[in-house]
Amino acid sequence: ADQQHIRNFSIIAHIDHGKSTLADRILELTHTVEGRQMREQVLDSMELERERGITIKAQAVRVPYTARNGETYQLHLIDTPGHVDFTYEVSRSLAACEGAVLVVDASQGVEAQTVANTYLAVDAGLELIPCLNKIDLPGAEPERVAAEVSELLGEPGDEIIRISGKTGEGVLDVLEAIVEHVPPPAGDPGAAPRAAIFDSEFDQYRGVIAYIRVVDGTFTKGAAIRAMAAGTEADIDEIGFFTPAMTPVDQLTVGEVGYLITGIKDVTRLRVGDTLTTKAHPATEPLPGYREVKPMVFCGLFPINSDEYPDLRDALEKLTLNDAALTWEPETSDALGFGFRCGFLGLLHMDIVRERLEREYDLELMATMPSVGFEVTLTNGDEVEVHAPSDMPDPARIAEIREPYIRASILTPKEYVGQVMELCQDRRGEHSGMHYLSADRVQISYDLPLAEIVLDFFDQLKSRTRGYASLDYELVGMRPSNLVKLDVLLAGDPVDALSMVVHRDKAYDFGRTLTEKLRKLIPRQQYDVPIQAAIGSHVVARETVKAYRKDVTSKCYGGDISRKRKLLERQKEGKKRMKQVGRVEVPQEAFLAVLEVA
Ligand code: GDP
Ligand code: MG
Repeated sequence: ADQQHIRNFSIIAHIDHGKSTLADRILELTHTVEGRQMREQVLDSMELERERGITIKAQAVRVPYTARNGETYQLHLIDTPGHVDFTYEVSRSLAACEGAVLVVDASQGVEAQTVANTYLAVDAGLELIPCLNKIDLPGAEPERVAAEVSELLGEPGDEIIRISGKTGEGVLDVLEAIVEHVPPPAGDPGAAPRAAIFDSEFDQYRGVIAYIRVVDGTFTKGAAIRAMAAGTEADIDEIGFFTPAMTPVDQLTVGEVGYLITGIKDVTRLRVGDTLTTKAHPATEPLPGYREVKPMVFCGLFPINSDEYPDLRDALEKLTLNDAALTWEPETSDALGFGFRCGFLGLLHMDIVRERLEREYDLELMATMPSVGFEVTLTNGDEVEVHAPSDMPDPARIAEIREPYIRASILTPKEYVGQVMELCQDRRGEHSGMHYLSADRVQISYDLPLAEIVLDFFDQLKSRTRGYASLDYELVGMRPSNLVKLDVLLAGDPVDALSMVVHRDKAYDFGRTLTEKLRKLIPRQQYDVPIQAAIGSHVVARETVKAYRKDVTSKCYGGDISRKRKLLERQKEGKKRMKQVGRVEVPQEAFLAVLEVA
């Protein structure tokens, strides 16, 4: 299409406010996806996304739209995830757009990610189209919510479009507003071609599929291209757009969004954030890159079957292409053998990566306790980064330990302010501000150690506010803390994979709860197994797993043989996720016990 008739936009919202449903209606009303192929959340194509009802990867679809003025436009819709772990996906998508539809659930109101995503869009210079969604719900309060949105945007509330992604009401008004208010892409059709890779995917047969937004010039099938940062050169095998199915075309030009395949299989050679140009007419200046995402939470992933170590490496390499925020390095554990120390944005991200590795790559994994990363200054002045508690240097060599702090923004109805503050204080929080969004809704800010947030903070917050509070946070930097390493000993032997770093004031309580949890999780063995938690050589808590008294099968002797076989089979089943650690069999759950502590 000609440049003046292209509109690139994202849909942004707090989770569950109806982005994916609105995207579905847009695809349906514009006949991009015909009725019989329509299923809910068409764009959430990853199996995991459908099961969990959340969007993980951003998607980019071309939507033809004939507006009320009679002209046909080419819209590119980029659906985005809403969870705080995936903010980086949102900002990358926004960089490929000129506008954003801001969806706010009219029965809920402005929430933490509504605010955070609005700021991201404003910072990216996008034109915002605010909408109140779910107006079909009896509990919708469009007046109240419009006032909150207008307070957030600093604009009058009467321009806000009222819609229902469910019934389709108002959805065409949203498309009209996009055509009218979102500017067409600005690039230069005659300049040296430049395209931003804003996402990518790995296909087993076709190699890297780069999602691109053409900023200047034209990219044509067969042309020789160059990735400016990586220096990679290749020919374009296929170029096209999503409908959402991949649809090949001869070329993509200024402002268009689509994909490109070169046959390159090495995932490091075509990276998200790189700029593509052509060899025939090379650009000199790359496009601005994306903010580097830094993993915040780390855990070890070990194959249960050690033969699968190379497969795990292979799978991680491929996933990294699809997921720029995932990092990994080899890790060796005395307890678990060879594996990888992986870095994630948060616990949801960790959970999803692990599940994808198991499902899509058919691996069986043990995951160790998640931990944040630390910076340590040694007494000799050296600086080290510590990603695994077991790598924490000897206390005698440590001058200072720093841990990541975040600034949390919590939105809550005002009757829960006391509860929220109590929770934050309990998690070593420092109060940094409070702001009324409306007579009833309050935004509270706290600085908190990330370690206190990653485990169960969100669940606690939800349960203390009957689900009404929402949370967003951003990293504010590393700050010194009085931290100690807590070791766990099984049958007298320290188990490196169970070590953790905790605040000194909480170490005793933590040690006690953890040893209790482990006692319940570690199955009885043929002898007593003492479990100890220790700081250095100082034992702070102790429990014992008593030896079992009889063989489980003994009661079947002389009885029904098939019953006995069943029992043995069930026992084997239960052992699936077990690892022999010294003399003790430890189940997967034990390594994650920390998730339930505190
Ligand atoms: P997302 O997380 O923002 O992508 O939200 P979804 O599109 O997955 O929607 C979350 C839930 O709200 C789903 O159960 C939808 O069916 C429901 N929903 C979305 N839009 C509407 C609407 O306009 N009316 C009603 N009643 N429900 C809606
Ligand atoms: Mg969604």
